[in-house]
Amino acid sequence: MDRQPDLHLHSSASDGTLDPEALVALASREGLEMIALTDHDTIAGLAAAAGAARVHGIDFVAGVEISCSWAGVGVHVLGLGIDADCPALTAGLAGLDGRRRARAAAIAARLEKRRIAGALEGVRALAGEAAPTRTHFARWLVAAGLAPTPAAAHKRYLARGRPAHVAGDWTPLAEAIGWIGAAGGVAVLAHPARCPLSARKLRLLVAEFAAAGGGALEVVSGPQPAERTRFLAELATAHRLMGSRGSDFHGPEQRWLAPGRMAALPPTVTPVWGVLGAAGRARRVRV
Ligand code: AMP
Ligand code: MN
Ligand code: MN
Ligand code: MN
Repeated sequence: MDRQPDLHLHSSASDGTLDPEALVALASREGLEMIALTDHDTIAGLAAAAGAARVHGIDFVAGVEISCSWAGVGVHVLGLGIDADCPALTAGLAGLDGRRRARAAAIAARLEKRRIAGALEGVRALAGEAAPTRTHFARWLVAAGLAPTPAAAHKRYLARGRPAHVAGDWTPLAEAIGWIGAAGGVAVLAHPARCPLSARKLRLLVAEFAAAGGGALEVVSGPQPAERTRFLAELATAHRLMGSRGSDFHGPEQRWLAPGRMAALPPTVTPVWGVLGAAGRARRVRV
């Protein structure tokens, strides 16, 4: 196993199951030397994770995964190397927090129509201070005995076209890239191949992302076929985007995933971590 960075990790500050300290400790046990915490629409876990990373001697990249809407579909943009005190970013995330909480109530109302009661209280309890995501609904449905696994809960209730699906009204793509830029970070299009888009639409999305100031594509997103890695590497190169690498790890219950355990970034791609972490920050200040 190589030790290239893992720049896409979740903690209990959003829909992960490990708190930031435990997540960083696990990444350290996995031998990682650079990680980013990228919780959904929140920076609440960054301070604790940064502190733990100092203790473990890991290079820590402050990150966030911003929910965006593009052409009617949800796409995710990571901000890496962000200044978490940037007012444009924090104001934007506060708006998303409100939308997430309203959407959680709408999802619960849809479940209620199917005679499934108590979901809103349930997901609030699971989420703690975090704004509820569909991940929390999936966990609650499993705990309530209404689905055998979180994946099945999505398939039965929460996914697009299913009875409790509520499409999020998220941030326009260019706006999210603007917040990340204002915060001094690099915008990375997350798991491009998992966006529900045709190949033609995906190319359009990537072109628009690059034109709007996007900096990198997540070329390696968890375990994936080598063919997909090649396709995304070519897409990044064609649009002069750097490449990123992240597991999208949410917790040890995802037995098929672990921080950092996936393919290396192909050598044809410029790694985004060259402009991140301690060395990257120094380089960016000099420019
Ligand atoms: P939300 O942002 O509230 O729409 O929730 C999206 C989150 O749900 C993603 O970040 C994943 O963690 C999780 N998710 C989405 N689809 C699935 C699925 N089919 N199986 C398991 N988790 C999923
Ligand atoms: Mn998630
Ligand atoms: Mn995502
Ligand atoms: Mn993610």
